[in-house]
Amino acid sequence: MLFRSIKASYRKGITKPIKYREEQLKALQTCLLDNEIEFRNALREDLHKSEFESVLTELSLVYDEISTALDNLSSWTSSKSQSKAHPKYMWALDSLQLVPEPYGTVLVIAPWNYPVQLALSPIVGAIAAGNAVVLKPSEISKACERVLAALLPKYLDEDTFCVVTGAKEETQKLLEQKFDYIFFTGSTKVGKIVMKAAAEHLTPVTLELGGKSPVIIDDSCDLEQAAQRIAWGKFTNAGQTCVAPDYALILSSLIPRFTEEIKKVITEMFGEDPQQSKDYGRIITQDHFERISGYLSQGEVLYGGHADSEERYIQPTILGSIKQGADVMQDEIFGPILPLIPIESLDEAVSFIVERPKPLALYLFTSKSEVKKKFELETSSGSMLINDTLIHLSCNTLPFGGVGDSGMGAYHGEYSFKTFSHMKPVMHKTTKLEKLNEKFRYPPYDEKKLSHLQTILRYPGKQ
Ligand code: NAD
Repeated sequence: MLFRSIKASYRKGITKPIKYREEQLKALQTCLLDNEIEFRNALREDLHKSEFESVLTELSLVYDEISTALDNLSSWTSSKSQSKAHPKYMWALDSLQLVPEPYGTVLVIAPWNYPVQLALSPIVGAIAAGNAVVLKPSEISKACERVLAALLPKYLDEDTFCVVTGAKEETQKLLEQKFDYIFFTGSTKVGKIVMKAAAEHLTPVTLELGGKSPVIIDDSCDLEQAAQRIAWGKFTNAGQTCVAPDYALILSSLIPRFTEEIKKVITEMFGEDPQQSKDYGRIITQDHFERISGYLSQGEVLYGGHADSEERYIQPTILGSIKQGADVMQDEIFGPILPLIPIESLDEAVSFIVERPKPLALYLFTSKSEVKKKFELETSSGSMLINDTLIHLSCNTLPFGGVGDSGMGAYHGEYSFKTFSHMKPVMHKTTKLEKLNEKFRYPPYDEKKLSHLQTILRYPGKQ
């Protein structure tokens, strides 16, 4: 079986030399460069992604991950001395190191909404850290699955990397194997299945999940700019983004003006009829189309509302006066509908957020530092972005990941390397102590030894 042969290759140590990791990362880069058109066409076929969006939200992020890893590999992989970090005399003659070691053979499971980026970015970290990799792309983004499965094995070493295609059953078969690490991106529901399966083997996991990411609009913000940035974040990829602003908590007095501004920017971005825009996406499957279009009747349509089943097109839509208990405010929307939830105070917004599962991202539009501090301190979310949407995840000096129901663990840049590495503590113990007649740790003990022990441990009152 493929898994066993990949695992056997890992055990031979093939993936560990830095040179090998560099070669594999460069091969991945070449694979993308040689075949950019195939990747872009596949993204167009699956999601009607524009070239610009494919570059901005898929390919450039992977290139950036690769070049960051190549630039930093030698420093990431070097042992980190911890000797100076310890204030006690106890370790003064020893060398304390943190040595990054690869986990082994890792499984990366990807979703369909950013099918290239979310398959390849984690792999960069896994390879940089010296692991062998099994990739399971999403079966739903069929064209991207086909391209990934056909091209990656031509560039990457087939002894230490493979792509397994398939859906639920195939993934569950993979999950029966004893991987050394599992990196899963997808829904909270399937995240639980993955974690249960991983628990059987005590395999550590990163879970990059979803949820309802709120946006809060305060009256001190530049409303025109807020509308522009929120519309861009919501309607990129037709709303099928894990960190899309799911709904807006907005001071009720701002709703009429905000609605006018957002209508204006939607028209600027996609024209009077977004269905004709080459830059506006489509819903991935008929099932998702049915689910999302069902939300259109759960409130008052303030803008948009048109859906065309044949093309799986849903117009950018703003919903107000949401019906009590409506699904649109229970489910992760994952589509181009923005419910506006009126609030009378920022405290009300905080309560609304903290009463619900912890979101993947929280967006706040304000110019007041005390309001920024309030949300930083009083809410919890995977990440927080002030005065913009989505864009933080392309900054790979910041970790990206969820908290609570939106996931565990994080990646990007060096955080990916750390995610796929076990940071092994290694102590190089001095051999000089006994020669220096330092035998105080051995029995028989006496008062003098106890006092000496307390001194070198910087015991309270004995320093
Ligand atoms: P999903 O959970 O349905 O599928 C993800 C992967 O799991 C796919 O490869 C699929 O084949 C596999 N899978 C599906 N059902 C399975 C099962 N029963 N057992 C084992 N494996 C199974 O997710 P999706 O629909 O592909 O993606 C959408 C979800 O992913 C949304 O909730 C979104 O928020 C989330 N997401 C999160 C991030 C993030 O970075 N946090 C990024 C993108 C998407």
